[in-house]
Amino acid sequence: MKNVNLSMNTNPSSYKQTNVDEWNNNEGELTGYNCSTCKNKGYIMFLNDDNIETLRDCSCKKIRSSLKNIKQSGLENLLEDYSFEKFTTEESWQKKSKILQFDS
Ligand SMILES: [Zn+2]
Repeated sequence: MKNVNLSMNTNPSSYKQTNVDEWNNNEGELTGYNCSTCKNKGYIMFLNDDNIETLRDCSCKKIRSSLKNIKQSGLENLLEDYSFEKFTTEESWQKKSKILQFDS
């Protein structure tokens, strides 16, 4: 059924665009950051001026390399400490509000 549809498609540029869309919709295997733009492939496919499938870097590549740098420099532990501190502060705030509720 799919083959019939493809042979009926006489417009080569829209056929190529379908290929591009399909490629962009495939899930990639990059980890560490979830990107909905490239679906974790790191690349976005598009048709250039000559109607040729072309890849360009996704904007998440910069984020990924930043995250990698953070891990390599050991700053990740600092970030974890910070979020842990934030969590405990929030927890004590919740306890406080519970006490207030109990008093009233
Ligand atoms: Zn991306």
